[in-house]
Order: sequence, then structure tokens, then C-alpha cells
Amino acid sequence: MKAVAVLPGKSHTVHLRDIPVPTLADQPHPHVVSIPPGRGVLVETLQVGVDATDREINEALYGNAPPGGEHLVIGHEIFGRVLEIGDAVTEVVPGDYVACTVRRPGGSIYDKIGRNDITSEEVYFERGINLCHGFLTERFVDDAEFIVKVPKGLKHLGVLSEPASVCAKAIDQAYLAQQRLQTWQPRLAYVMGAGQIGLLATMMLRLRGLQVFTLATRPGPHLKSEIAEAYGATYVSTKETPLAELVKRTGRPDIIFEATGNAEACFRSMEVLGLNGALIWTSITGGQKDVTIDAAKINLEWVLGNKLLVSSVNGNRYHFELGLRALSHGELTFPGVTERILTHPVKGLDGYAEMMRLLEEKEALKVFVDVAK
Ligand code: BGC
Ligand code: ZN
Repeated sequence: MKAVAVLPGKSHTVHLRDIPVPTLADQPHPHVVSIPPGRGVLVETLQVGVDATDREINEALYGNAPPGGEHLVIGHEIFGRVLEIGDAVTEVVPGDYVACTVRRPGGSIYDKIGRNDITSEEVYFERGINLCHGFLTERFVDDAEFIVKVPKGLKHLGVLSEPASVCAKAIDQAYLAQQRLQTWQPRLAYVMGAGQIGLLATMMLRLRGLQVFTLATRPGPHLKSEIAEAYGATYVSTKETPLAELVKRTGRPDIIFEATGNAEACFRSMEVLGLNGALIWTSITGGQKDVTIDAAKINLEWVLGNKLLVSSVNGNRYHFELGLRALSHGELTFPGVTERILTHPVKGLDGYAEMMRLLEEKEALKVFVDVAK
């Protein structure tokens, strides 16, 4: 069957290759973890979303092949349908729509208690990213443990399960960490960045009842500003209204959700957070960048203001469930809005070159492959 792969370590090697069709009895990553007897699930891939991580893997900035081979099948945002289940699987049945988590457990205590999303080991195992093959292929097998059921009524948004898990986890982590304050009633949030993560975070913070300002550089109106506003947020172009000016107008935010992919924005966010506030960092910034900041001022304000920085990556199955709940709640509250994020479908795995090209395009909010078409 067909699969889209790269040769990690060599740049721009994305290609289509032929790989064996998996069966229920297969062990997809025996070098990491094995599927217990009867717990396998065979899934037909319907759609796979791609993001900046896939672009960086193809640029050889990131990612490694599983041991014993040169290639890595990419794709970590999967939406599919169950074909077959092992005799010890009770959670899903053939025909169910599903997503699948990305990380597989290593050996740390966190991995052992089901929290591989916060592994304390330097080496982590991620399907389609690091040391495990991904989902840009026609079928795959995994442990029922990592398969997450997607409600039928949400199948048009199923391919957003993984990005939604990342947002839901980051926000959940901030609320959990803020229990240090005994009571916390955030009212005002800034979301930095209006890509898929910024927009999903906008929705999730609106669902929690916050006033949300979604900030990005490009002046609206355009699709991103329209989606943010349809969620009831205010879109702000930092070209038109610099950050400092916005703060003068609104007061300092209680939450800043940073999702620009720009290292400078991460640190500029530190300059404007409110007292007792939480700054959430989710950007994965490749390369190197020097920024000048007033470190003494930031330190003073952060100490005197009891401010918190929460960094967050990846989502485990609980976070996928949180993400799916948020997508469902969002769909009922803002019907039809979230699907506007799904801007650029690519037809079939043969379209892999087009898929990579679209990842470079500023206009493309979400690129995804319709694998089963
Ligand atoms: C993925 C996460 C992953 C992270 C780091 C992101 O693109 O969505 O699941 O943990 O990259 O590799
Ligand atoms: Zn990703």
C-alpha cells in the first residue's frame, strides 16, 4: 500500500513509497512498546492533517527514522475508521470513527502512569515525527489504548482531533497550575497567533466565558479574523494596534495563549501579562534567534506579580477526549465555524508534493489529505 515518507537527516526527501499492508497481528513499534494480546485495532485512514512539524521534518530540522531503516512515514494528525479489532478490545467496534494519539511511552515514571505527554526522558517516541512511523498511509494498526473514538456527529471535524488535543491540554494545564492561587477567575485572554492552534484556543477560551482578543500581524478582514470573530473574539492586527497600545485599552490579560511560532512573540508576551496571570507557551520554534528584552523589568514584574509560565506539548488520550469535547461544545455553540479552518484538502496520498507546497502558503490555514478518496 502507499505511504508518504521522508529520509530524516536529508532535506526535501518527501516521497511516495510502497509499504506492507498491516494486519491486526502486527506490532507497529516493537522497539518501543508492544500491543498486548487481543488489543490491536486496525484502522483505515480517512484524513491526515499536516502542520509546520511535517514541514520541518522534510527540511531535516527535526525527526528520526525508526531503528533499522532510513525512512520515516510522516503524518501525525489522523482521522480514520476502524476496520478490525482484537478480541480483547471493548472500546471501539468496526465502523467507528477514531483518532489516534501521537506519543508512545518510554520508560519514565510519567510514561508508566499513562502520562507519556510529559515524559521526563530526552528521547521521546512519536508516530510520524520521531522514531515511529506515522499515519500518511492507507491503513495502520495500534494498541486500543491509543485509539480515541470520535463521535459520528463530529466526523467533519475529526481531522482536527490532534490539534484540538494540543490546545485543550495547554489550557487544562494552565488551569491546573493556577490552583496554586486557591481561587482564580480569569476574565481577559490574549491569543497570540491566528493559525489553527490560535483559533482553536480562541474557541476554547470563549467556551470558558473569557473575553478574548486574538492577535496576529495581518490586518483583517480575512478568513482568520472572520473565524476569530465568529467565535465571539476580537481580532487585532498588531500592525495596526501594537501590543502595548492594546494593553493600554484593555488592561493586562489574565491569560496569554502563545501560538505564533515566533520566539520573539513568546518573550514579548512576558512583558504584558497581568498580575497572577498565566502565560501559556505552545510554539515549537526551530533554529536560533536573539532577542533583546528588559530582563530586569520582566523579572521584577513577574516576581512581584506572582506570574506563571506554563509550557505545553503533545496530548495524551485524556487530552484528545478533552479536545473532542471542546470541538463538540464549540460546534453546538458556534455551528459551522470550526470547519472553516479546514481550508486546503489534498486529494489522495499521490498529492504529497502539493501537500508540502501548501504548507508554505500563508493563506493555507489547515492542509489535510483526503486519503480514502
Ligand atoms: C505535535 C505534537 C508533538 C510535537 C513535538 C507537534 O507538531 O502536534 O503531538 O508532541 O509536535 O514533536
Ligand atoms: Zn502537530
